[in-house]
Amino acid sequence: YHAPVTNDCLFCRIVAGEIPATIVRETDTTLAFRDIDPKAPVHVLVIPKVHYADVATLGQGDPELAGQVLATAAEVAEAEGLLADGFRLMFNTGGYGGQEVFHVHAHLLGGAPLGPMLA
Ligand code: 5GP
Ligand code: ZN
Repeated sequence: YHAPVTNDCLFCRIVAGEIPATIVRETDTTLAFRDIDPKAPVHVLVIPKVHYADVATLGQGDPELAGQVLATAAEVAEAEGLLADGFRLMFNTGGYGGQEVFHVHAHLLGGAPLGPMLA
């Protein structure tokens, strides 16, 4: 059971429809929407609908759901035409990882060469 965190979590509020987002794919358990401040021609965030703070708690708490996030990310990558040229899929985690929104999200980045991972 997951207590609703709709009030104070930005991405829970997007799931709840309380904050608008450009949704590109939705499954029973996951949601993919465009980043509000894109860092690449394609920049989509992929989240589980239920709240996990980061990929570590998701991966340990519900590995099946973590796999569903990856499957949705792969489907979006295909739909956005990223498979041929390649893309980046990334989970910023915690302070050193630069995480700012503490509802786990995969960044799907593509559409242009992305350069070295650490810039
Ligand atoms: P983080 O630094 O936590 O890995 O990434 C958070 C991401 O969420 C950033 O890329 C930021 O642009 C994006 N973001 C922040 N607020 C919103 C919002 O209200 N809507 C959308 N679609 N993206 C957001
Ligand atoms: Zn949340």
